[in-house]
Amino acid sequence: MTPVTTFKDKTVALFGLGGSGLATAKALIAGGAHVRAWDDGEAGRLKAVAQGVTLEDLARSDWSQYDAFILSPGVPLTHPEPHWTAQRARAAGVEIIGDIELFCRERAALAPGAPFVAITGTNGKSTTTALIAHILREAGRDVQLGGNIGVPILDLEPPSDERIHVIECSSFQIDLTPSLKPTIGVLINLTPDHIDRHGTMAHYAAVKERLVAGAEVALIGVDDSYTHAIGARLAERFAERIVDEESDERRVMPVSAVRALDWGFYVEKGAIYFREEGHAPEEAELIAPLAGARALRGAHNAQNAAFACAVGWECGLEDDEIGRGVQSFPGLPHRMEEVGHIDRTLFINDSKATNADAAEKALASFTDIYWIIGGKAKEGGVEPLRGYFSRIRKAYLIGEASDHFARTLEGALPYERCETLDVATARAACDALEGDAPAPVVLLSPACASYDQFANFEARGDAFRSLVQGLPAVLAARGGGRT
Ligand code: ADP
Repeated sequence: MTPVTTFKDKTVALFGLGGSGLATAKALIAGGAHVRAWDDGEAGRLKAVAQGVTLEDLARSDWSQYDAFILSPGVPLTHPEPHWTAQRARAAGVEIIGDIELFCRERAALAPGAPFVAITGTNGKSTTTALIAHILREAGRDVQLGGNIGVPILDLEPPSDERIHVIECSSFQIDLTPSLKPTIGVLINLTPDHIDRHGTMAHYAAVKERLVAGAEVALIGVDDSYTHAIGARLAERFAERIVDEESDERRVMPVSAVRALDWGFYVEKGAIYFREEGHAPEEAELIAPLAGARALRGAHNAQNAAFACAVGWECGLEDDEIGRGVQSFPGLPHRMEEVGHIDRTLFINDSKATNADAAEKALASFTDIYWIIGGKAKEGGVEPLRGYFSRIRKAYLIGEASDHFARTLEGALPYERCETLDVATARAACDALEGDAPAPVVLLSPACASYDQFANFEARGDAFRSLVQGLPAVLAARGGGRT
């Protein structure tokens, strides 16, 4: 835990007692603050009380007594409209901040030089964050991994000069972190997302920009127009400061997954390269090949890997250390996760793909696909994926979306209504094993939410993994399987 000492003897209000809210309350208490916490849900309140947190109904309390208000990132700060607690705080002139801000203040007070890598973007945050942590750990560094992925930031060990914090930040968290000044800031990509919570794309992009604007080294994607513009703007601003003030050596480092750059990190011919400013193309340094990195298939993962390699390089790792980390990365569950193979047939769990955009990444990464799709359909269904249908041998439909998807697939590719995941997995496995495809892949990339049949995408992916593990027995029992 990182006790928050910057609010010692002060009184703070806190709303939202989920995982990170409770961790924050405990870290504040450990640092000597008086916390007054609330949550609309009784379960959260009871759990907090059991762990020594003092509750106060913030709807009835006098807000003038609070020195700060700590808001959970899941609660609307601005859009669609500010939560009532945010309105009360603003009316009383109380600053509204989140747990990452508390970490930043603690770091500034105790260990301002402690290495702090902050990662954001619309897509690929978790993969990039986990890969950075993996590369650094494999190279023997003391790494703390958390934030929007896994462990809440204040549950991690405190910052220190020898320890690298690798922290995934959502836009909601950045919004609550006014003094975000990481050593290395990573902005992977930006596409319209969460606009309901940010009002406009411009506001969403401006929030994301703050993470890199405060960084010493800003690693910024140049493959979409939003991040490209942010990188150009920051480079100009940083350059002006270098002229004014010698000591300020903040810099932007561009990263591309689609073209070789004049300088920066980029992906070319299946490997990550770095080219220094002013150097000739043939002087570009090969940082890490991607061939053989089984958890980093696809162009989208090449982008994630380019950023992770750039962070490793900026942290002073040797190329072979970075390359080893890339090769040994086990990947994250439910994101194109290899969950088994029988003979030539590979089984891939991509349950996190809850919309067509995400499923597209998996379809682009394989050919000879036996595709399990369905669940609770999102707007647009699988129509946007028509361009990939030639890669699909057959589709297996499950859940509520079956009628909708059958209409799209009719006449375009063979499909079968399977209703449930167990039937679909067994049918797809039989077809893949009996077919003549050179590299068949049974792919669960459902392009749908899971809620009609599962608690969440994790439960759906876990179910698929165990079904695949049980397949040899199922196939043997049917008498048709090769195990
Ligand atoms: P996030 O944490 O931003 O949601 P993840 O790393 O968990 O991202 O990946 C979630 C899904 O997003 C993946 O399954 C894949 O479909 C897609 N994805 C991952 N990386 C990228 C990327 N760099 N660009 C576009 N899509 C990506």
